[in-house]
Amino acid sequence: MSDTIFHKIIAREIPATIEFENDTLIVIRDINPQAPFHCLIIPKKTIRSIQQLEPEDSHILMEMISTAQKLAKDNGFDSKGYRLIMNCEEWGGQTVFQLHMHMLSGTHLSGGFA
Ligand code: AMP
Repeated sequence: MSDTIFHKIIAREIPATIEFENDTLIVIRDINPQAPFHCLIIPKKTIRSIQQLEPEDSHILMEMISTAQKLAKDNGFDSKGYRLIMNCEEWGGQTVFQLHMHMLSGTHLSGGFA
């Protein structure tokens, strides 16, 4: 069993600001926000990174996307837009090794990928 900080948040062993939760995933505010709105969409199933995703997990990815759509609507920026980012392993900048998607919005985000 993996034991990342996100597993501890899911288990309520450490606190976080939870924006949404269901049986499949949890959404928390990033502790070090890079935009006015910065949430992390985290599946509850233990999956280390994008590289470990299996075809049977496709419903999880779709649920992460539909949750982002819901958050955008609920927070009033569905037509303005937002950015979704998934860092994969060391070179991709991943620091917490449980799959998660960053969702950023609340301002016009600058370009650049590296
Ligand atoms: P990544 O670099 O893609 O693995 O992103 C990990 C993210 O988790 C970073 O943006 C961190 O700021 C965030 N993070 C780390 N610890 C916590 C925490 N306890 N609560 C909320 N976000 C966290």
